[in-house]
Amino acid sequence: MVNVNKELCIGCGICEESCPFGAIVMDQGIPVIGDSCTLCGACVENCAVGALSIEKKEGRAAVDIRSWSGVAVFCEYRRGELAGVSLELLGIGRRLADQRGVPLHAYLLGADTGGCGDVLVGHGADLVVVVEREELRDFRDDCYAEVFTHLVRHYRPEIVLAGATAIGRSFIPAVATSLNTGLTADCTKLEIREDDGALLQTRPAFGGNIMATIVCEGSRPQMATVRPKVMKALDFDGNRRGEIVRPEIPAEILASRIKVCESVVAEAGKVNIQDADILVSGGRGLETAKGFELLHRLAGVLGAKVSASRAVVDAGWIPYPHQVGQTGKTVAPKLYIACGISGAVQHVAGMQSAETIVAINRDENASIFNVADYGLVGDLYEIIPKLISRLEERRHQ
Ligand SMILES: Cc1cc2nc3c(=O)[nH]c(=O)nc-3n(C[C@H](O)[C@H](O)[C@H](O)COP(=O)(O)OP(=O)(O)OC[C@H]3O[C@@H](n4cnc5c(N)ncnc54)[C@H](O)[C@@H]3O)c2cc1C
Repeated sequence: MVNVNKELCIGCGICEESCPFGAIVMDQGIPVIGDSCTLCGACVENCAVGALSIEKKEGRAAVDIRSWSGVAVFCEYRRGELAGVSLELLGIGRRLADQRGVPLHAYLLGADTGGCGDVLVGHGADLVVVVEREELRDFRDDCYAEVFTHLVRHYRPEIVLAGATAIGRSFIPAVATSLNTGLTADCTKLEIREDDGALLQTRPAFGGNIMATIVCEGSRPQMATVRPKVMKALDFDGNRRGEIVRPEIPAEILASRIKVCESVVAEAGKVNIQDADILVSGGRGLETAKGFELLHRLAGVLGAKVSASRAVVDAGWIPYPHQVGQTGKTVAPKLYIACGISGAVQHVAGMQSAETIVAINRDENASIFNVADYGLVGDLYEIIPKLISRLEERRHQ
């Protein structure tokens, strides 16, 4: 908590002004700290007379940081398939492990995982820990969290990475809580700090308007989730060597209070814009929901899928699974065609990894042109029909 030394306080009110969360109110010349205080320390830094201080919570045992070593990745396996994000995390995990000079572990939980261990080695893992049990066939938060926590306690990796998928988001916070450590969600960049080897975890904050870098200096492991398609997987290398182990897991850890009656693939889940090579994306510049008919025609001739900005999803012109961006999906297609999209930071955060970006916008100053490889300035209702007929002509040549 923030302590106020009333003897030293001169009632200048600078702390009230400097609090980014509006948590301080001056009452009769003395700051009163409210519930929205996040202990960010801005008030302490700005107090010229040293009247404010942060009291550290007692009782938390000091962590022996040197006893934690290695980088571990949660490898998600469902319905006979490894999630692509697991391989992407092994790619960044390999880089972090090499920089730290430590091994890269892959923890694989599931049933009938077949040759996945070799795939994980080929994509960078030095050690694959496989827990293959019938109890893990269906995803259940409680037993996945227990088993994963058990593995982390046993192997003591200094860094733990997981995909920010429905499964990762569901159980990884419980793991972090059991381990009494922090967790940074939806990181877009992970780096090692040179001086002390700490993990620098960067993610958008304040609605995507700033990029915040978070460091967990005093706790281990340092835990982060990353959304699919943000990091790049390494190419598979069949010559890479690694060890695959299958540890015994105590039966009580596998117990679950959840009974899975049936698993059904949701209709919305069938729209997978993340796997598309080409995306034709529509924004508010389409002017009406009917505008998507034109985009579907363009997508048809290109063999593409249709995606969208949040503005049009919010307007009900297209369902949420099509949304690209910070609160939608992160995509990395070979070609992304942005039609009538302004290029807000929250949208760009979800598509800037596309190999080639084409933007169509009638405002030559639209921010989307800052990230576009090719820009077409003009009315999309004039440009897109011409594009369609040129592409069709080409197809028939
Ligand atoms: C916390 C938070 C999270 C968010 N998450 C997301 C997210 O995940 N994804 C996302 O997309 N947004 C997100 N947003 C919203 C984002 O800030 C923008 O409001 C949104 O992306 C704007 O959508 P747009 O580009 O379609 O619309 P606009 O910003 O209105 O842009 C429309 C563009 O169309 C152009 N245009 C108009 N008519 C034509 C025409 N006939 N031909 C050619 N061009 C034309 C205009 O020049 C303009 O540039 C988020 C915002 C917040 C605060």
